[in-house]
Amino acid sequence: MPNCKGCGASVAWIKMPSGSSMPCNLPPVRYLPGAGSDRIVTPSGEVATGKIIDPTSPFARAAVDGYMPHWATCPAAAKFKQKGKQ
Ligand SMILES: [Zn+2]
Repeated sequence: MPNCKGCGASVAWIKMPSGSSMPCNLPPVRYLPGAGSDRIVTPSGEVATGKIIDPTSPFARAAVDGYMPHWATCPAAAKFKQKGKQ
C-alpha cells in the first residue's frame, strides 16, 4: 500500500462506493455513531458522523470501528487543497 504522498505517513486506502479510494489514518479508531461531529469513514467507505472515543472508555462497548480521513490530520493537507487557506 502506498503511503501518503504529502507526508509519507502510512495510510489505509478505503474504497468508497464511488470507486475512488480515500486515504485514512491508521490505526482505525472507535467512534459512537451520531454522537458528535467528527467525520469518520466506515470500513465500507461511507462517510459518517460521530464522536471518536478512547477505546478504553466505558462507552467503547457501544462504539464501532471507523477511520479518520487522513486529510483531517495530514501536515501536508494544504498541498491537496485548491483553495489554499483553511
Ligand atoms: Zn499525509
